[in-house]
Amino acid sequence: MIAQLAFLFVLGIAVFLIRRRVLFLARTIRLGKANDIKDRTGDRWRNVLLVAFGQKKMFKRPIPAVLHFFIYAGFLIINLEVLEFIIDGVAGTHRFFAPWLGSIYPVLMNLFEFLAVAVMVACVVFLLRRFVLRLPRFWSDEMTSWPRLDAALILVTEIILMWAILFMNASDQLLQGQHEHYPETGKLFFSAFLTPALAGLDVHSLVLVERFCWWFHIIGILGFSLYITYSKHLHIFLAFPNTYYARLETKGQIQNMPVVTREVRSMLGLEPAGAGPPSEPGRFGAKDINDLSWNSLLSAYSCTECGRCTSECPANQTGKKLSPRKIMMDVRDRMEEVGNSMAHGGAGLADGKSLLGNYITKEEINACTSCNACVEACPVLISPLDIILELRRYVAMEESGSPAQWNAMFQNIETNFAPWKFPAADRFNWAKENR
Ligand code: SF4
Ligand code: SF4
Repeated sequence: MIAQLAFLFVLGIAVFLIRRRVLFLARTIRLGKANDIKDRTGDRWRNVLLVAFGQKKMFKRPIPAVLHFFIYAGFLIINLEVLEFIIDGVAGTHRFFAPWLGSIYPVLMNLFEFLAVAVMVACVVFLLRRFVLRLPRFWSDEMTSWPRLDAALILVTEIILMWAILFMNASDQLLQGQHEHYPETGKLFFSAFLTPALAGLDVHSLVLVERFCWWFHIIGILGFSLYITYSKHLHIFLAFPNTYYARLETKGQIQNMPVVTREVRSMLGLEPAGAGPPSEPGRFGAKDINDLSWNSLLSAYSCTECGRCTSECPANQTGKKLSPRKIMMDVRDRMEEVGNSMAHGGAGLADGKSLLGNYITKEEINACTSCNACVEACPVLISPLDIILELRRYVAMEESGSPAQWNAMFQNIETNFAPWKFPAADRFNWAKENR
């Protein structure tokens, strides 16, 4: 009974803290501008199935993809076992599903053990890749001590949690037939390798080991679930809504801001475009997070910090200051700053800071070639380019602060409808000359 009360207490605290953090995340994402996304639901669900569930884009690099798949499948499937942990913890039972599932139970347990080992192997490889082979994309400037520590904590925690499952099963196996609380579950393949390490222990000590691993694992899982909400690992949940709400338009199709379109049409004496009500007069482009759409803010929390975007970015490759991963990390950091300030009654968005200026510089956004390589590379369909373009629009339209070299191009577009200085009427002169 004491154990059940203790479990309910731990579970209650975890649920309270996780709920509080989830509400914080939802409030912060809602700081973004409204963007009513209801079109092409079939395509959107296809993205969720192929890209989020199926990890389709990860498989462009097969070896990390397979290892990542083990961690992902392990996370999804082994956590089914957590359901049994919770039932056992609340009801005071032990291996609640064993009598119900009969001979299927050991098959499932062996599958969980296989995945536990696969997760450990994948995590060790990822740690080696990051910290021994030191892949450059994990050591670029924006990967400061916290993102590196975050990645290491996640990988090490997963390894420790998997060990706890295996030791728990090993001690459980030894207790079966010796203690009435431990029913027969059938042979478990991987944890059987650990039983020699525990074979010398008496029943009391084995119960202690089994209970310690059980509590360690469930508290670890609950703590890890809370930690995830503060970490880049949040992508394991947010990749699903993010892929659903991702842009479906052809890459490179730059959307005119409705407010600009409306203004130009009214200047030309045309009917306003679209049937909806006129948009609120606001800022052109984005200076801070509340000028970005809510789905751009969602994507900042969905970023895995994998750096695939930055490693494909031509501006970054040629030594420019731009890193699309940093753009996403900066948006998320600014969201956290504003969200925390608002949660504590602070100034929030009116704190005298802004995304552009305090986090992202003009030099960074001006280096972007709008090539979409980052969008193509992203395994969870994030578009750093959308954010860069919004920030650049703000600089161009609100501050007239684009680089002086660009002014000639703007002028040409205005007068010649093309970036070059030739009049539109001369556009086909080349064809005449070559006739
Ligand atoms: S669109 Fe911009 S940020 Fe993205 S890869 Fe191209 S240059 Fe880099
Ligand atoms: S934006 Fe996408 S590709 Fe870039 S770091 Fe984040 S998840 Fe990786």
